[in-house]
Amino acid sequence: MAAKATALAPTITVSEAVVEDWTRVLRRLRDELGETAFRSWFQEIHVERVENAEGVISLPTRFLRNWVATHYADKLLAAWRAENPAVRRLTIVVEPHPTAPPRPAPSSAAAADAQLATPTPVSEIGDDRAQLSAPLDPRFTFANFVVGKPNELANAAARRVAEAFSAPAHSVPFNPLFLYGGVGLGKTHLMHAIAWHVRTHAPRRKVIYLSAEKFMYQFIRALRFRSTMDFKEQFRSVDLLMIDDVQFISGKDSTQEEFFHTFNALVDQNRQIVISADKSPSDLEGLEERMRSRLGWGLVADLHPTTYELRLGILHAKAEASGAKVPDKVLEFLAHKITSNVRELEGALNRITAHTQLVGRDITLESAHELLHDLLRANERHVTIDEIQKKVAEHFNIKMAEMTSARRARIVARPRQVAMYLAKQLTPRSLPEIGRKFGGRDHTTVMHAVKKIEELTAADRALGEDVELLRRMLLS
Ligand code: ADP
Ligand code: MG
Repeated sequence: MAAKATALAPTITVSEAVVEDWTRVLRRLRDELGETAFRSWFQEIHVERVENAEGVISLPTRFLRNWVATHYADKLLAAWRAENPAVRRLTIVVEPHPTAPPRPAPSSAAAADAQLATPTPVSEIGDDRAQLSAPLDPRFTFANFVVGKPNELANAAARRVAEAFSAPAHSVPFNPLFLYGGVGLGKTHLMHAIAWHVRTHAPRRKVIYLSAEKFMYQFIRALRFRSTMDFKEQFRSVDLLMIDDVQFISGKDSTQEEFFHTFNALVDQNRQIVISADKSPSDLEGLEERMRSRLGWGLVADLHPTTYELRLGILHAKAEASGAKVPDKVLEFLAHKITSNVRELEGALNRITAHTQLVGRDITLESAHELLHDLLRANERHVTIDEIQKKVAEHFNIKMAEMTSARRARIVARPRQVAMYLAKQLTPRSLPEIGRKFGGRDHTTVMHAVKKIEELTAADRALGEDVELLRRMLLS
């Protein structure tokens, strides 16, 4: 049943039975995965042969091969075995198949998009880079960014990059600028602000801003239509490249590879790069080591969770900009209660100003309460000591039982101290109460743990980041 392939005939001939089985396998997959996924990944798949219980199929690129192997190998094999139980293993090879559909002409870009079933990114920046850059939000400028302790470093760094880059003798102060922080703390805002600044002060400079997801999309698309040269060309001719939310690139091998090369090429030519992510380079999972260290080369600036003062400042600024009259008491109430992120804070304020305009009456504390009860409830999330112990144990890969055990080996004692510290920070429990929850320890032990972790996080960056990460996970 094996296919015949000779050195003289690179076009492998597959036996009819194999092809018939394969057609049915594909039909099964299409039913199981749905049309969109099927077309995205299996359009160019070919059966090569079945030999010694091994089914061999091919895809035209390494990227597609890896993707299908990671995401669909099990399903493929199961479907194949359902048609032909003799197939017990699956191998996917890279083979640009002679019968693969040719690359569509450039004019059929629309059709190409339909094929990928992903919306085309629209552009505003740059002419010939039209399809690459994402639109900028007109509200996201430096002038509209309220600066406070938690974001002052990130803001200063972003400004510095924007100004240095727009100056006539342009320079690249730190490359890359890596901004990171939790959801809704202003990463995208700062990146757009850089783009706006450059656009106003140095309109001839080529700027590309896009999300890591779009970057991947563009890359996959280039692979599918074998236009990777154009892709490289487009990215490598920009002056300032900004990629938002790179955590989405991690784990996707060949996109990472391409990103790495683009990155290096740009840095070598002294072009500016700005990156954002939800974690620091050292905490990004699924990232290759060389990529991780490259990303940390320039300036890494953290956006910390907001403080009450910053939230109030933002609310004042936004209320003023909207022109609606919102009493200070209500703003203070919001700043106090809605602590998750700035996006929610804005949402709350918008609801209030809309209400004010609709009913034509100033909002009171009572009506604010009523209007926002769902948001307020969500922000009233209380963390329990159990949750803290569980998350910390998971994070440091120790047993939950070690949280209450008497073992004093550092490998378990340190995580236990971190958990005590977080319990003190995140719950209203007293030191004796916390001590009891950790296997009946004395309150002085808890106090010692809190002090110890405070000292350690100040001195040891890795531990500091661990604790910060845990804090964020617990509060989100
Ligand atoms: P991220 O990209 O970090 O998830 P965004 O940049 O999208 O967050 O910010 C979420 C929203 O909060 C945006 O509307 C943004 O304008 C606003 N925002 C965040 N931080 C500030 C700030 N310091 N001053 C003014 N607006 C802010
Ligand atoms: Mg963002």
